[in-house]
Amino acid sequence: MRTDTGHVFKLEDYRPCDYLIPRTSLDFRLSPDATHVTALLTIERRAGVAASPLVLDGDGLTLLGIAVDGHTLPASDYEATPDRLTILKPPAAQRFELRLETEIAPSRNEALMGLYRSNNVYCTQCEAEGFRRITYFLDRPDILSVYTVRIEAPHNEAPLLLSNGNPVESGTLGSGRHYAVWHDPFPKPSYLFALVAGALGKVAGSFTTMSGREVELGIYVEPGKEQLAGYAMDALKRSMQWDEEAFGREYDLDVFNIVAVSDFNMGAMENKGLNVFNDKYVLADEETATDADFANIEAIIAHEYFHNWTGNRITCRDWFQLCLKEGLTVYRDHEFSADQRSRSVKRIAEVRTLRAHQFPEDQGPLAHPVRPRRYREINNFYTATVYEKGSEVVRMIRTILGPETFRAGMDLYFERHDGEAATIEDFLKVFEDVSGRDLAQFALWYHQAGTPNLTVSSAHNAAAKEFTLEIEQSVPPTPSESRKRLMHIPLAFGLVGANGKPVAWTAVEGAMVDDGVIHIRKRRHTVRFSGISQRPSVSLNRGFSAPITLSVQQKADDQFFLAAHDSDAFARWQAFNTLLTDALIAAFRQILGGKEPVFAARLAELAGRIAGDETLEPAYRALALSLPGEADIARDIGKGIDPDAIFAAREAMARMIAEANREAFPALYESLADKGPFSPDAASAGRRALRNILLDYLSLLPGGAGLAAGHFNAATNMTDRAAALAVLAHRHPGTAEAEEALAAFEARYRGDALVLDKWFQIQAGVPGAKTVEKVRELMRHPAFSIANPNRVRSLIGTFSSANQTGFHRPDGEGYRLFAETVLEVEKRNPQVAARLATALRSWRSLEPGRQTKARQALLDMAKAENLSADLRDIVERTLA
Ligand SMILES: [Zn+2]
Repeated sequence: MRTDTGHVFKLEDYRPCDYLIPRTSLDFRLSPDATHVTALLTIERRAGVAASPLVLDGDGLTLLGIAVDGHTLPASDYEATPDRLTILKPPAAQRFELRLETEIAPSRNEALMGLYRSNNVYCTQCEAEGFRRITYFLDRPDILSVYTVRIEAPHNEAPLLLSNGNPVESGTLGSGRHYAVWHDPFPKPSYLFALVAGALGKVAGSFTTMSGREVELGIYVEPGKEQLAGYAMDALKRSMQWDEEAFGREYDLDVFNIVAVSDFNMGAMENKGLNVFNDKYVLADEETATDADFANIEAIIAHEYFHNWTGNRITCRDWFQLCLKEGLTVYRDHEFSADQRSRSVKRIAEVRTLRAHQFPEDQGPLAHPVRPRRYREINNFYTATVYEKGSEVVRMIRTILGPETFRAGMDLYFERHDGEAATIEDFLKVFEDVSGRDLAQFALWYHQAGTPNLTVSSAHNAAAKEFTLEIEQSVPPTPSESRKRLMHIPLAFGLVGANGKPVAWTAVEGAMVDDGVIHIRKRRHTVRFSGISQRPSVSLNRGFSAPITLSVQQKADDQFFLAAHDSDAFARWQAFNTLLTDALIAAFRQILGGKEPVFAARLAELAGRIAGDETLEPAYRALALSLPGEADIARDIGKGIDPDAIFAAREAMARMIAEANREAFPALYESLADKGPFSPDAASAGRRALRNILLDYLSLLPGGAGLAAGHFNAATNMTDRAAALAVLAHRHPGTAEAEEALAAFEARYRGDALVLDKWFQIQAGVPGAKTVEKVRELMRHPAFSIANPNRVRSLIGTFSSANQTGFHRPDGEGYRLFAETVLEVEKRNPQVAARLATALRSWRSLEPGRQTKARQALLDMAKAENLSADLRDIVERTLA
């Protein structure tokens, strides 16, 4: 484990390395406690650079042997520490061979970085800086090397030996051992290196690329689970096809392999030709996976595959450029899912995710630009800002340039930078070159943190037939950036007439208005539309064209009108969601003694109309009916948060909607029951989503627990079973129905760790004061393991980031459990601990009593001895 050195890495300090490593040959003799690694590196001094000491990165390594050009290096010529190897006087020749021997212990690697064992399978995770836990290397993304890898192991222990690239050779050796050699012709950075060895079951497939090449596909899973990998294989083939059609990108190796492992810090990893996945994102069937799981599998398989071009063929120059591969690849996987499913439903879901995860980041102590300028620990920058906001920035480029010019820019990017380690400047330049436009102001989206806000008011002058929008932009201050520059915000909009149709205008002045988009570039714009005789309703930020917040002075009547009539599906959903949020905030203030009007009855009636509107997709209706989350409401309130009052307001609103629709909802619920055999397709999933949210409302009416228990018992798939279990546990905690269902679920899935994660999750999410003790009890459950990231995230992650009333218990007991557990996880796995610790990032918005207790928990973590760089970085920034 790397303890904190306090070193801060800065973007402006980047300089190319004096040395390159054009070729890397690795030889692994695998053994759980003593794996022998021999690295043969071709080292090249960069042209025109004087000979200087060669410094290689390490992390906890022991050097067993070192030779230069075949000669053992005398001890006086180098210095080796666990974290660094310095060759004091490298040969004068431009090029030389460095041979290094190290020994590592995969079975004792609980940080799950570098080479480790998961369920007796050897696997690697090298991004961002795990390769240096295997051998000394120039472990930075701008050092591209061609790898040849030889793996040797006892056949019975590891019948399967995989690495990047194409298989070259394999054979048997004496005493039950065997070997395999892999060669990857594409130069790549060390973070994309991968090795997998063990006994795994295989699902095979094939794909013919657009130029007619055959690619062998393999998905490797725990033996006996092969039948659960069919959906992932199908998603992989659809991804390969889509990238050819949408971006003209063809796959480039003879094989493409995916391996599912059960101990994994992240979702999945895009290693060249050998993706390694958290098994949660591969294994699925109707008995074990929900519709959301199927959608996630499809999206993550696609995401990692798409990295082959955006990330692997063109990689990042340094880790500050992480969004170059991540933001862009998230954008690509979003587009893929939108094409495979429903575009408007997908868009709403994306925006909900962005608001739930990225907005709080931007508004709290951990705020950073999409391209950060400094970091202490890069592992802490795999954030919603880099991924989700990074994707929104790419989407805005497309909105500004239009689809054809955007595609031309992408084509130029692939052509110009293939085989290179690139930067955000390189990426923006291709779009400037194809469009002839200056994107300098737009580039602030990469450089400046914070969520911009637009304040909008409107006025209509009937006599002059003029409609005016007053728009003002501001960007709130964020840590270390108090003064902000003005941004270029593409604001898609529509003027909607009383008949629901768009209103035409004869002229517009005050801003560039182009193809339904107002380009906001100054602090204030007065946008004047002429030739408008009747006052229109204004639909703003259609399709969520920019990741901003809006403060619109608009009458509730206009909002109700847009919620019923806006032709832009996203904006229509948004109008209803804004009304719900406003009503919930008003109710929150009433609970705390205020007197604000609540138009809940009118909303409940509109909710009923949306639920039954057959012209809308069921998935869309389900999203509209799902009330803003407690954390979303808290974010909009801003400060003085009392999670119990928010919960009460939300609960009351749900009851009001249920009671107002007590006649209509039961019939609709009945009509949506699955008729044919199970299918995970988007339309079927949408019907289940709508039916399950109706169940949630109906469970609040008399007899609700019985209805949910019936739903649970009759369920023929995991989506319905898990939804009913959550309704019982969350709406009717402690009842016989809830307890029986929880016990039945546990008995049915005992032994299936991934499914029991749902059981942990549902119980960790039970609202109220008693859940802290329940979580403590579940941590002693035989299926729980503090060493497994999926278990920890299901139980502790859900409790701390998705259970507002339980976690923020007024006496601080939730925070105490949290701090203790984070420190316990930290001993093994600093990366997972640091990720968990971000759950307290919004502590300053709490009411004073909770705030004091939350701060104490952070201080308790900060004063623990020997904190990792990962956790110290998060805790100190959160407290700053
Ligand atoms: Zn990625």
